[in-house]
Amino acid sequence: MPQSYPVNYLRHMMELQNLIGGEMTNPKGGAWLDNIEPATGHVFSRIPRSNAADVEAAVQAARTAFPAWSATPFEERAASLRRWGALIAEHSEALIAAESQDNGKPVSLAGAVDIPRAQKNLEFFAGAIEHFASEAHIPGGAEFIHYTHRKPIGVVGCISPWNLPLYLFTWKIAPALAAGNCVVAKPSEVTPVTAWMLSKWAAEAGFPAGVFNVVHGLGHEAGQALVEHPHVKAISFTGGTQTGAHIARTTAGIFKKLSLELGGKNPAIVFADCDVDKAVSTTIRSSFANQGQICLCSSRILIEDSLYDTFRDALVAKAKRIAPGDPSDPNTKMGALVSAPHRDKVLAYIESAKVQGASVLCGGDVASAPNDRCEAGYFVQPTILEGLGPACSINQEEIFGPVISLQRFSTEAEAIKLANDSDYGLAATIWTQDAAKAHRVATQVESGIAWINCWLVRDLRTPFGGVKSSGIGREGGFEALRFFTEPQSVCIPTH
Ligand code: NDP
Repeated sequence: MPQSYPVNYLRHMMELQNLIGGEMTNPKGGAWLDNIEPATGHVFSRIPRSNAADVEAAVQAARTAFPAWSATPFEERAASLRRWGALIAEHSEALIAAESQDNGKPVSLAGAVDIPRAQKNLEFFAGAIEHFASEAHIPGGAEFIHYTHRKPIGVVGCISPWNLPLYLFTWKIAPALAAGNCVVAKPSEVTPVTAWMLSKWAAEAGFPAGVFNVVHGLGHEAGQALVEHPHVKAISFTGGTQTGAHIARTTAGIFKKLSLELGGKNPAIVFADCDVDKAVSTTIRSSFANQGQICLCSSRILIEDSLYDTFRDALVAKAKRIAPGDPSDPNTKMGALVSAPHRDKVLAYIESAKVQGASVLCGGDVASAPNDRCEAGYFVQPTILEGLGPACSINQEEIFGPVISLQRFSTEAEAIKLANDSDYGLAATIWTQDAAKAHRVATQVESGIAWINCWLVRDLRTPFGGVKSSGIGREGGFEALRFFTEPQSVCIPTH
């Protein structure tokens, strides 16, 4: 361990455990995985390398807990979620430090976004279940009443990625638990620490043993066992498109309910009549926030011809001022990429762009270490490329790093065509001061989300998700509660 450890980071080698049936447990196979701090490249914790036997124990614990939990009044379920949220607030300093240390993201980002949002997710779904209602249909004559009985599904699996660890973990488990299901969750093995911390407070929040279980480990081992388990009735998954496709194939013959939130290759469409300053500063954020590792980040910047040079120069000037720093420094705006393999993947895309003839306007390489502590960290410069056509891999494949590519368009129709020239369809950003044009373009862009003159503004009641290869289903608000319940149509005569 490096000597100069930041104050709030974990100082001693931590050993994480699974939460199964209310007990913190070691992996049944006795195998462990090293967990690496991205900013330093040092191992700072060990996590269970769980196998199918751990998943089996967790599913059995969840099945045992289900009858009582599903019969628990929704007010009590909501109260447990709120107490859990309060525990996040109480421990927020430790959670912010842990998220930053585990993921490489700046503490400023974890403190402004990840941890407050995790708390908000729990509180939001506590409120949502109190307002969730079923429909009743009474045909003319009122001889029959048809009503929809929404029942919890049973044991559900929640699988989450590494980029927004506690944020996306809570976004899944909160609606699942609120709706009366019992959960077996598998956080990404790359960033497991905050999920483990939350799991230690489950009993204090009021969740009975077995209602909420966490099994740590590798996707193709623990994750796969969860997906295949016959008593896991639904899987809510956020992650890469290839993994999503694998899960869809695995569950196709066993008819599991699936929610898949997958990758993106999001266009930012910049018209010449936009507020340029706002468009430039927001595009910097939408391109490089969290080191470009947000599924909603812009990666294809489409700029109208007449504004192209001005916009490009302003964007490049701003990007050149971003220097990746030690994530534990409160002044750092850009941290480390999540892992060495991921850094190498991002660098390989940059090299391939160069081979394909791209001009590198800024960045294009690893960033120098901000200090001695971070000498072996995974830092990459914010990188802006131009000169690549829409069909090349840089403009088609998800890089999921601080790399964007600029393209020109000359008409509205061309902008829409370029925006839709992608297998993905998660989020689009549209910059124009012409409201009619903004609406026109938004309705024609193939994406689950369209932001006009803004980015990453969220109302948790709105449907969240993508089209095409960006996923199936929607999360958020009542959509999530609908996913985590099974509707039964009941019909009864009135006399
Ligand atoms: P992965 O698809 O690699 O992994 C996501 C989760 O699935 C991890 O917990 C992983 O475990 C697990 N997993 C992997 N293989 C299997 C399997 N066979 N069965 C069950 N579980 C499995 O994605 P990343 O973690 O690399 O996350 C980045 C991706 O997530 C990007 O593509 C990004 O776009 C997408 N994403 C989508 C969002 C959305 O809302 N649409 C939001 C955020 C990210 P392990 O870590 O052990 O491999």
